[in-house]
Amino acid sequence: MGSYIIRIIDKSNVRYIYNTSGSTIVWTNVFIFLILNVLSLYGIYVCIANKCWMTWCFAFWYGLAGGLGVTAGAHRLWSHRSYKARLPLRIVLMLFHSIAGQNDLYEWCRDHRVHHKYSETDADPHNSKRGFFFAHVGWLLTRKHPDVIIKGKQIDLSDLINDPVVYYHKKYYIVFYLIFCFILPIIIPLYVWSETVFYSVFGTVLRYVTSLHCTWFVNSAAHMFGDKPYNPNIEPRENLLVSYGAFGEGFHNYHHSFPFDYSTSEMGWRLNFTTFFIDFMALIGQAYDMKRLSKDMVCQRKLKVWSNSY
Ligand SMILES: [Zn+2]
Ligand SMILES: [Zn+2]
Repeated sequence: MGSYIIRIIDKSNVRYIYNTSGSTIVWTNVFIFLILNVLSLYGIYVCIANKCWMTWCFAFWYGLAGGLGVTAGAHRLWSHRSYKARLPLRIVLMLFHSIAGQNDLYEWCRDHRVHHKYSETDADPHNSKRGFFFAHVGWLLTRKHPDVIIKGKQIDLSDLINDPVVYYHKKYYIVFYLIFCFILPIIIPLYVWSETVFYSVFGTVLRYVTSLHCTWFVNSAAHMFGDKPYNPNIEPRENLLVSYGAFGEGFHNYHHSFPFDYSTSEMGWRLNFTTFFIDFMALIGQAYDMKRLSKDMVCQRKLKVWSNSY
């Protein structure tokens, strides 16, 4: 990408100026992610070699909560509005999302809406046409392509900022991030079952990095490997391994074809812990108005794709 300055003037006459000159690599992020990944590799060794099973169980369940914050919260609720949630559930999902440490809800949803609208173009933040590494993590290690910034400014995000839960998460993100992603998961094992600082820190790092990769595989692997039974003209694919690791988010050909469906798959709870969670929340009155594609429509689409391929 060449060096140039972008000036954007939006509807309210606010100017945004971006200087894209110089290196496109964000070295601070490279350094942070490198350290985290190396520490997590050592964390795997520590996990296998030691006997502090309570800490690993805790890291697993804490990570599971963080995963739901991303899948049921940032993705299916706030990015796609595929169901509605009452305030207590929205607060819980916001706190869960802080555990995952994947930017504030507003930024996460903005990037995701741009991703859906401009998939596999320069305006897609993690454009898979730029290769597996870029789609997986490279996009977080480099400056955004100018098209991502320009198109991102044109996406309607008013519903997000009008939700006080999203508003305060954006405003105080660094506090939520530090407390829920690092401080609490380190302190709880120390004080509740007298874990050592060493194991507690490595459990936290391993949990964080694992959950990051589970999300990143949706952007990389689920855009490159798998079948396309619902729409062969797009890159997102059905990837069962990714669905397993990302609680149902690997049914990606279905999801990009029908992004309004709260289940992101036609198969209900199969490899889809997020759908199970949302259904349970509906049972206790916290989730409602779940949008779903009818079975007839799914069959018709698959039949059409199948007949066109012969
Ligand atoms: Zn989506
Ligand atoms: Zn996608």
